[in-house]
Formats: sequence, C-alpha cells, structure tokens
Amino acid sequence: MQKYDYLVVGAGLFGCVFAHEATKKGKKCLVIDKRPHLGGNVYCENVDGINIHKYGAHIFHTNDKHIWDYVNQFAEFNNYINSPVSISKGKLYNLPFNMNTFYQLWGTKTPEEAKSIIERQIKTYGCEDPKNLEEQALSLIGKDVYETLIKEYTEKQWGKKATELPAFIIKRLPVRYTFNNNYFNDKYQGIPIGGYNKIIDGLLEGIEVKTNVDFFENKNAFSQQADKIVFTGKIDEFYNYKFGNLEYRSLRFENTRLEKENYQGNAVVNYNDAEVPYTRIIEHKHFEFGKQAHTVITKEFPEQWTTKKEAYYPINNSKNQEKYQQYKIMAQQESNVIFGGRLAEYKYYDMHQIIASALQKVKKELN
Ligand code: FAD
Ligand code: UDP
Repeated sequence: MQKYDYLVVGAGLFGCVFAHEATKKGKKCLVIDKRPHLGGNVYCENVDGINIHKYGAHIFHTNDKHIWDYVNQFAEFNNYINSPVSISKGKLYNLPFNMNTFYQLWGTKTPEEAKSIIERQIKTYGCEDPKNLEEQALSLIGKDVYETLIKEYTEKQWGKKATELPAFIIKRLPVRYTFNNNYFNDKYQGIPIGGYNKIIDGLLEGIEVKTNVDFFENKNAFSQQADKIVFTGKIDEFYNYKFGNLEYRSLRFENTRLEKENYQGNAVVNYNDAEVPYTRIIEHKHFEFGKQAHTVITKEFPEQWTTKKEAYYPINNSKNQEKYQQYKIMAQQESNVIFGGRLAEYKYYDMHQIIASALQKVKKELN
C-alpha cells in the first residue's frame, strides 16, 4: 500500500488546484515544493500591510465564468483594472494600444484618423503571413507603435531579436479604437483581497504539504510514497535533459521600500528603452488601492536563464518547440506521472488557463 494516492510536485496554482480537487474526491495527496513557501509564482509577501507580488505582478483575468466563480470560492476580488503606462524616449504612453496611445503618438482624435495612419503603415511594413514577432507587430499595428513601444521592450524582455521570436507573444496585447486603457479584454478581472496566498491557503486546506523539498534530490524515495505523481516542474529536468535543455527567460527582482506614499501613481510602469536595464517597475500597493505612508517598488530585470536560476518564461520558438515535442512523447508514455503547468507543459500560460487546465486534467483522472 502506498501512503498517498498522489505526490504533487510543485505548490503552484496547477499543483494546488489538482490536489484540492483530488482531495475533495477522497484521494490522499502530498504536495511538495522546493521553495520555502507555497503558491509558486503567485506567492505574495506582506511588507507592513502591502502584498508584494514576489515573482512579478499578477493580475487575475478571465472570460470564463466558471473559472471566475472557482477562484471566488477562496477569496473576494477587488475591482482593480490593469492599465499600465509605458515610458519611451522620455514620453509617457497609455497601454494597451488604444485611442489614448494614438493621440500621444500622432495627435489623432478620432478612430478614422488613427486607423488611416495605422492602415497605411500596415500596408507598407506588414505582411500577409507573419512568421515572427516583428512581422506580426508590423502587420497588426504598424511601424510607429512597433518602434516606440514594442521593439526595444521585447528584445530586452526576451534577450532575442524580435525577428527570432514567435508571433503569438504580441497577440496577447489588445489593439483598440476606443479610449480604453484596460490591458485585458476579459469580462472578469481583479486582485484577490488579502493577496493570492488566500487562494492558495484555501486550496490546500487540510492537505499535507512540505516546503524546501526538491523532488530530484530524493526522486526514488518520493516516487515510492504515492501511486501517481503530478509533476509541475520543468519537463526537461524530469528527463535529466536527455534531449538537451529547453530555453527559458529568467528575471531578477529588485525591491525597494520607500518612505513615501506614492512613487509612480500606477501599479505598472513599463520602460521601453533598451538603455534602461529593467522592463517595468511595479508599485504593489496600487493593486489594492493601499493608503499606507510607505510604499514598495520592484524593478524587473530580464536575465539569461541558467540551470541555477528560476525559469520564468518558456521561449516557445521553433527550436525549443521541437525539443519539447520529444519530451512530450516520453511524457505521454508514462502511466503514473501527470505533467501539468507552465514548466511541465512548456507553455506561456496565464493563471486562468492554468486553473482550467488543472481542472480538466483532474477531472479526466478521477472520472
Ligand atoms: P509555478 O507557479 O511556477 O509553480 C511551480 C512550482 O513547482 C514552483 O513553486 C516550483 O518551486 C515548484 N517546483 C519546480 N520544480 C520542483 C522540484 N524539482 N521539486 C519541488 N518543487 C518544484 N498570469 C496571469 O494570469 N496574470 C498575470 O498578470 C501574470 N503575470 C505574470 C508575471 C510573471 C513575471 C510571470 C513569470 C508569470 C505571470 N503569470 C501571470 C503567469 C502565472 O504565474 C502562471 O500562469 C502560474 O502561476 C503558473 O502556475 P504553475 O503551477 O504552472 O507554475
Ligand atoms: N510588450 C511590449 N511592450 C510593452 C508590453 C509588452 O512590446 O510595453 C510585448 C513583449 O514582447 C511582451 C509581450 O508583449 O513579452 C507580452 O506582454 P505581457 O504584458 O502580456 O507580458 P507578461 O506580463 O507575461 O510579462
């Protein structure tokens, strides 16, 4: 007899949702994580009343009522709407690309005026079948927006030329001919009141957890404790980099506490220029409309990934996708291991997509 039905490797959203649902169905789970805390990348650290998004700004958004209701079981959400601004060559622009941005770029006041400039630029610089991020951006929004707000940010973020990056990345950003600075098109959006830890605590209530434990340091012993493993770490690491390592982009976060109430007037300010080494500054209190006398800001520096650093973003270009397919074939042959989440599926998932994917996998497993 095994001690557990499932050993869940990784206490991120995927692992927590899987463990929660499996436990509800009477299964016994053990959740382990190599970090000293639970929650994976949504973990928040409280600094004198301000929830610091320790692994980068996290804004929850979804179009799916079922997923929205699911997270609302564990925490109430506030009405925060993400409206980042971007600084480029000393000027400030609204994001995503909308009528405010176009006014700031060209002084256009109507959708017709803005459209005529953008359509002209798309005709000149765009193409029918964009093969990379640069071609996609030029075909979507034209040269001026690309050069002012996309090219340098993107190349700094990914450490690669925009021509070497997959087109889908830039399709995450809306383009609108209305004066609407909402970064997302989704129907539901907000920040959990009290931080993301509340959701994680709710998901893991009554479930055995162990932190500071790396699965690979004791793989055999751990594997013997459970009938099945739910693995949410890096798939290439699981197979000991058999086909070579997949590429990731890492980040470094530099936190500063300031004894002032308001540093930048917004939760997210992007820095487009290549000369600025960070991509954005987050002022966490604005996610929860904080009124504290102090503030905490975080500069986000993109970094080259090495096996010793955190793997934040999969680099889904064709070279890496081909390698991932080889790992995926091996994963599909496993009868006792379920792979899920951003690292195990090597996919640029947002939180709502992770929850949907975990719910789907646990349902398939237990029904
Ligand atoms: P993770 O949260 O990465 O959890 C995996 C866990 O597994 C980690 O805790 C890790 O320590 C653990 N682990 C790995 N290997 C081992 C091992 N060998 N042994 C033990 N434990 C191990 N999504 C949004 O919807 N909105 C946003 O605004 C947003 N912003 C983001 C900003 C940044 C900078 C980043 C990086 C991501 C952002 N995301 C956002 C995406 C979001 O973080 C993910 O979709 C989600 O958190 C992924 O959950 P996960 O469980 O797959 O992975
Ligand atoms: N992007 C950009 N300029 C910006 C913001 C984003 O060019 O001011 C591009 C960049 O390539 C980035 C992608 O759009 O990687 C997706 O942005 P998003 O804000 O969704 O990224 P995340 O929050 O996941 O880092």
